[in-house]
Amino acid sequence: MAEEIQSVFKEAGVDIDIGEIEERLKLLIEKFHVPEQEAKRSVVNYFLKEHKIPRTQLMSAETQTLEHIKDIDAPGRWVNVKGKVVQLWDNKSEAVSQVGLIGDSSGVVRFVKWTSAGLPDVRLDGVYLFKNVVTDVWQGQYSIKLNKNSEIIPLDEDIEVASQQNTMVGAIVAVQQGSGLIKRCPECKRALIKNTCNEHGKVEGVYDLRIKAVLDDGVRTQDVLFNRELTEITTGITLEDAKEMAKREFDMEVVKGEIAKRVLGRYFKVRGNVVGQYLLVDEVEPLPPIEGEEIEDVRARAMQLMEAR
Ligand SMILES: [Zn+2]
Repeated sequence: MAEEIQSVFKEAGVDIDIGEIEERLKLLIEKFHVPEQEAKRSVVNYFLKEHKIPRTQLMSAETQTLEHIKDIDAPGRWVNVKGKVVQLWDNKSEAVSQVGLIGDSSGVVRFVKWTSAGLPDVRLDGVYLFKNVVTDVWQGQYSIKLNKNSEIIPLDEDIEVASQQNTMVGAIVAVQQGSGLIKRCPECKRALIKNTCNEHGKVEGVYDLRIKAVLDDGVRTQDVLFNRELTEITTGITLEDAKEMAKREFDMEVVKGEIAKRVLGRYFKVRGNVVGQYLLVDEVEPLPPIEGEEIEDVRARAMQLMEAR
């Protein structure tokens, strides 16, 4: 880290003794237990002041080039990204002004714009140069953060965005209506309501199994859809089990209840394409509960959120 700081200042034309950088980092990290990235920022700020270098000069020295989104593979780096806003999510955190996905020809990455950054809003499908943004990582998922040293420059061009495969890690906080055992129209595959297809009327339905759930990553929520195969893998309930269950209880709704019992409050890493409101899950990996957080806490929160919806 000391070498990195030294080289950044060198590019800006200032030679700093590496021992002095190390000493300051050590003091902050080891003695005062300041998180590493914060310590790094603090030390950089110290030397900026010391040598009367405007911050912008250093930023440009550090990040003159454009970063391809797929190359974002380490946290705490200052990068420039040219990208198109392909998704904006509602968010419930006051500290966050906008959260969504930015894509370029190489990939798609999550972005977070802090309210404290005081930056203008981006619009869906807009193409921008995001200057001096910081990379971050949480549970293997990279993101970029827009802070008060960042810039958003609107560009008058369009860019082809790579496939919108999206990975998300979070807890299932709600299992929605329409989950569990359903019947589909044999013609158009639409889910039936009271044995009736919206287009084809009363039909002999074909059974299917699915989960429509809400995944919460702590900042935002995303509706996710598990198909039959992934529902079976995730819950251990097969389509045949579900049919048996419904037959025994004379009620298809019991399956939804049983699924909720098994997935509500549990953490998953999911991957899939975002189509409209839903992330259509292609891959799912169950995760252990977050350390220090009791499953009951997650469940209590899940219940509150369910009631609020
Ligand atoms: Zn139909």
